[in-house]
Amino acid sequence: MSHNINSFSKLNEKIKAINGIPCVLEALWDGDTSGWYLYLNLYYKRRTWWFKEIFQPHLSKKALGTISLGGDIRLFSGQVPPWPEAELAKEIGKLASEKYGLTFYMPSEEPDDDCPSWDQQHLAIACGKCGKLIIPTDSAHLPKDTCYGCYLKQKSS
Ligand SMILES: [Zn+2]
Repeated sequence: MSHNINSFSKLNEKIKAINGIPCVLEALWDGDTSGWYLYLNLYYKRRTWWFKEIFQPHLSKKALGTISLGGDIRLFSGQVPPWPEAELAKEIGKLASEKYGLTFYMPSEEPDDDCPSWDQQHLAIACGKCGKLIIPTDSAHLPKDTCYGCYLKQKSS
């Protein structure tokens, strides 16, 4: 996958290609038939020229790529840690925040596609069990104040 980010230098290349000031790096989960992965977005102040250099006050958003390391076969192989994508994201997110002074935002360290993006946080609530930020579900069959992970744990206990 050409947009796969598997190191800080890959991430750094993508950030450097942005024409502006990086402000927030977000890592969110999504899944497809080959398993869960993280996708990275950068919020930045766009650079423009109007007689002099101007940085637009509102943030622009750009998709940088994905972190995809294993596919779900690891669930059967008992690999530890279970979600190395999250470990890698934390590691390179920390380096990016040190280098650029940006905010690293990853609402969930385990797969969850109900978490708000950075610019949707005002729509989110905290899970009543674990405190994770979630966008309340519109499903009639699921609790509105609990994240899906906690709901599953509760159901199976
Ligand atoms: Zn929860």
